[in-house]
Amino acid sequence: MDDNIARISYEGKEILLVATAHVSQESVELVKRVIEEERPDSVCIELDEGRYNNIQNPKAWMDLPKSPAPTTNFHTHTFRCKHAEGDVMDYVKAASEVGITHLGFADHTPLTDRWMHMIRMEVEDLPGYVAALREAVDNPYGVMVYGGMECDYKPEYEAYFRDELLGNCRLDYLVGSVHAFPWQGDYTWIHPGVDLDAAQLKAYAEHVAKAIASGLFAFIAHPDLFNQGLRKWNPEVRACIRDILAAAEAYQVPLEINPSGYAKARQSPEVYLPCTHLLDQFWEEAAGFNVTVLVNSDAHKPSALTTDLQAGYKTMHKYGLKEATLPFVRQ
Ligand SMILES: [Zn+2]
Ligand SMILES: [Zn+2]
Repeated sequence: MDDNIARISYEGKEILLVATAHVSQESVELVKRVIEEERPDSVCIELDEGRYNNIQNPKAWMDLPKSPAPTTNFHTHTFRCKHAEGDVMDYVKAASEVGITHLGFADHTPLTDRWMHMIRMEVEDLPGYVAALREAVDNPYGVMVYGGMECDYKPEYEAYFRDELLGNCRLDYLVGSVHAFPWQGDYTWIHPGVDLDAAQLKAYAEHVAKAIASGLFAFIAHPDLFNQGLRKWNPEVRACIRDILAAAEAYQVPLEINPSGYAKARQSPEVYLPCTHLLDQFWEEAAGFNVTVLVNSDAHKPSALTTDLQAGYKTMHKYGLKEATLPFVRQ
């Protein structure tokens, strides 16, 4: 008999226990086949409490009391990365206006080999960035400012991230980020709307897991970014999601819920809209792992500091995910 089926006798009754994996086509077929072949008197489904409640009231999560206005954001970019607007103090001022009390900066890191330098700061801009962060610590608005960097991960950059960014520049934290992953001897970028095949999904997940295992990062930015490269569901997606979640659980590295995809979908629905639904599947799956999360806006201009943050928190609450506490945050 199938490994996923167990026959149990209980008080003169025969019970057939069928193990399933949700979002699995194979499971759907197995359940269908067993019901057709066995014709049981009744069919019971085991659900955890959260899912049971969702079925009873599918819109329950929408009625949750609106979360209090967000007070933190640890993923903010300055003009130095060449595709963002505003400097540190512009954001601090904006933060004070929208109630953000803890503001962390994670601009796109400079790299000595200038890999993809058109979307990141130059090495010579690093001292100015660090100085702007230092100056902003004593701001008149009482906003707590933290200095960080968003680091596109490659193993060969680890020493630079550790010795230069955390060491010499004494940044508070680094954010691990994967926009490109090793593929056929080089790195391939995730292109919106271009499908990743099974092998590429595996390579992406492996690379994110490596970033997690490096121990350098306070959290991992948008671990579900690969959804930009998916137009349709395939079974490997779930494996990719689970590989990333397993690594985050093993190393206890928080994962970022990054709602900036919503704004992209509003701006270019033809490119982004088909894939945004996958974001939900990532976080739904996360509920089954011992992982923590945090919600950041990934702001690229001061006026976008809190854009869609509430949507991110909604996702967090919808799946009952635990919010991370970051060790460098002052009270
Ligand atoms: Zn950016
Ligand atoms: Zn970013």
